[in-house]
Parts: sequence; C-alpha cells; structure tokens
Amino acid sequence: MLTIGSHVSFNSKEQLLGSLNEALSYDANTFMFYTGAPQNTIRSKISDEITFKALEVMKEKGIDYSKVIVHAPYIINLANNKEDDKYDFSIRFLTEEVKRCEQLGIKYLVLHPGSHVGLGVEVGIDNIINALNIILKDTSVVILLETMAGKGSEVGSNFYELKKIIDGVNNKNNIGVCMDTCHLNDSGYDVSKFDEVLDEFDKVIGLSYVKCIHINDSKNPFDSHKDRHENIGFGNLGFDTIIDIIYNPRLGDIPRILETPWVEKMPPYKYEIEMIRKKEFDPSLKEKVINQ
Ligand code: FE
Ligand code: FE
Ligand code: ZN
Repeated sequence: MLTIGSHVSFNSKEQLLGSLNEALSYDANTFMFYTGAPQNTIRSKISDEITFKALEVMKEKGIDYSKVIVHAPYIINLANNKEDDKYDFSIRFLTEEVKRCEQLGIKYLVLHPGSHVGLGVEVGIDNIINALNIILKDTSVVILLETMAGKGSEVGSNFYELKKIIDGVNNKNNIGVCMDTCHLNDSGYDVSKFDEVLDEFDKVIGLSYVKCIHINDSKNPFDSHKDRHENIGFGNLGFDTIIDIIYNPRLGDIPRILETPWVEKMPPYKYEIEMIRKKEFDPSLKEKVINQ
C-alpha cells in the first residue's frame, strides 16, 4: 500500500488531532507538520490527552504513526556559527523541538542542514556535525537531513555533503535522509532517471538511510538552484516522472509527502493524492482545487 500524505497544519487548540483530521480530509494515510509556525519560536504546550485521542483514531483508521513526520522550523541554522548567540539559539531550539517530538511520540524530524553564509562548506559541515552531536546526545528521535536545492549557501545539495555530515554524527541510529524531488531537480540530479539517482545515493550514502521523500514538482529547470515548488504535473518534472518516483519499489514503504503550493488559498492535496492513486494526470486540477 502506498504511504502518502501532505504537509498539514498544527494549531495550538486541536494539535495532533487537528493535523490528523486535516490529513484524513485529503484521503491521506500519513502526514507531516510543524509543531508551530516555522518562522517563529512561539510554541504551545503539548496536550498528552489530545495526542492520546489522535493515536486512538489513527489505530482505527490504520495509520502507522511511526511514519508521521515533523518538519523542524526553518529559522534554525546549524551551519552558521558567526555569532555565538545565534548558533547557541539554533542548538537550543532544535533540542526543544526534539523534546516536543518525544512528547508527541514522533520518530522522524526533517531538518534543513543549514546555510554556511560565506564560512565555506567545510566549516558549515563541521558546525552542523558539532550541533547534531549535542542535540542527539540522549534521544530516540531520528533527524532526517533534507536534500537541498542549493539556493544561496545551502549545505546538503549533493549526496557527498550529506554523507560527510552523517559520518560525523556519533550515533548512526539517530540520523537519516529525507529526499525532496524538487530540490533534487534544482540541485542538478536528473530525477527523470530516478533509478540512476538512487544508484548514486546508494553508492555514496546507502539507500537504507532514506526514511521519507517530499514529492514536489518544480517551477524551475534542472540545476537551477532555485527551490520553488509546483503542483504535481504542472512543473518541469512532469506527471510521468513523478509517478515513476512515487511508485519506485526501491523506496519501499517510506512516506511520500506532498509540499506543493496551495492554489488561490485552497489546499490541493486531496486532488493531487487522488490523481496520484489513479496514475492519471488531470489538467483541470487547479480549477477543481479553486472551486472545491
Ligand atoms: Fe523542507
Ligand atoms: Fe521539502
Ligand atoms: Zn523546498
């Protein structure tokens, strides 16, 4: 069975139950969420009672909670230690995020490795490794490094950089990778030959490290280093390539997570998931989303 879902919201009132209900409304069987607004540090107290209720509903619906993903806030930058206070803040805030995942019973936390902001890739990687070894000292949470588009000074836009970070992390049980199809394309991996990309990943890192894949089309061409997501089948990857990736058996049953843009303030995920299950492109998808 295909494990597919999308990014969903997480609000202070309904928390995990609200996220779950949103995912169910898209006919998804998994989901990903931020525990609060990704661009600020305001976080509400997690209610164990709500979490417990959500877990019961998931059991009823046959949703495997071990595959539900949290995405770390993007204000965190572990690669930049130009200012001690900012670097310390990133370490502290991600440590708290790991604790929130523990309280929620979440196993996988997706992280953008960071941007070296002129310090150079080598220094950036050292900073990331140092931070991760502090953050992961005593936890069962697994941090998944996301494959990045290579915008600006982003670290992690090729498999060798991710491999270096993984090599430096003391406990290999706490580290993995989340692929992102838009980012792979934009960073210069030809995902229309996805088996070759997987071969390369397997050679450099090892396929067993991939625990999640973000499924996005791209507004930009191959190797553009841009990172702008497009709805499935409407971008430079195209529908057939994305279907081939989603159904590639070498990915096993890892969650496939859509992070495609909303269409005129409406979420497209129910329609995109339907299209993916049918394996048939619907050119009128965006109109259907708007008129839902
Ligand atoms: Fe991301
Ligand atoms: Fe992503
Ligand atoms: Zn992106």
